[in-house]
Amino acid sequence: FVAKPNPMNGRCRLISGNWKMNLNHLEAIALVQKLHYSLRESDYRYAEISVHPPFTALRSIQLLLETDRVPISLGAQNTYFETSGPFTGEVSPSMLNKLGVKYVIVGHSERRDIFGETDEVVSKKTKAVLDAQMIPIVCVGESLKEKQEEMTEAVLTHQVEAVVSGVNSEGCESLVFAYEPKWAIGSGMPAGASDAVRGAEVIRATVSKFHGEEVASKVRVQYGGSVNSANAKEFMEQKEIDGLLVGGASLSSEAFAAVIQA
Ligand code: PGA
Repeated sequence: FVAKPNPMNGRCRLISGNWKMNLNHLEAIALVQKLHYSLRESDYRYAEISVHPPFTALRSIQLLLETDRVPISLGAQNTYFETSGPFTGEVSPSMLNKLGVKYVIVGHSERRDIFGETDEVVSKKTKAVLDAQMIPIVCVGESLKEKQEEMTEAVLTHQVEAVVSGVNSEGCESLVFAYEPKWAIGSGMPAGASDAVRGAEVIRATVSKFHGEEVASKVRVQYGGSVNSANAKEFMEQKEIDGLLVGGASLSSEAFAAVIQA
């Protein structure tokens, strides 16, 4: 089943489960099997669904999706930007592509804050993912302090500029951005729909500055940060919001199916 474009804007919705450092490969298999059992054809038509297991479960989930013809897309949570070589512990984009990975999360705030990923690294990773024929989900968002200092727009603009200045228009229009205010991640305090819309507008305005209106109108923007089945609908009703990046509520098939069906 292929997701139908949103009649409001022509873009295909994308709802992604970011499992972070959770679920071993057996747990991951069980979750995807149960999730697929819970979802209906109309759910798959409404939005493309992607799951982003840890690297150790990618192969298992790839085989499950292919063997049982499950129409869920495979995603990764991270990658390195070099293609191969002496980079102990890293995984290259081409290795992910070989596993059938379609989407790669790049620059999640946990990568930026815990692992010191700079805008420059995020930019290189974005390019590397595009070069390997996959779609980056580029995460951007302000901290609580930046929000309180009314720096949200400046922070988002800067983070988006760092990425879109380094890609050509063709690559840029395929990008997915995830607007994830840091203070909303894992906090149980989601942004309001109007803040999420504002974030999406700033992202598209910045894309437009570099690549023009048409490219900006194709770029997809997800909202992420404490998404659950009670708030998902309100985000998805906004025509500026094309999907959700879901952390905690994607860790059980019941909760994730409830988000998708909401
Ligand atoms: P959360 O995480 O849904 O648990 O807030 C979202 C994310 O970090 O992508």
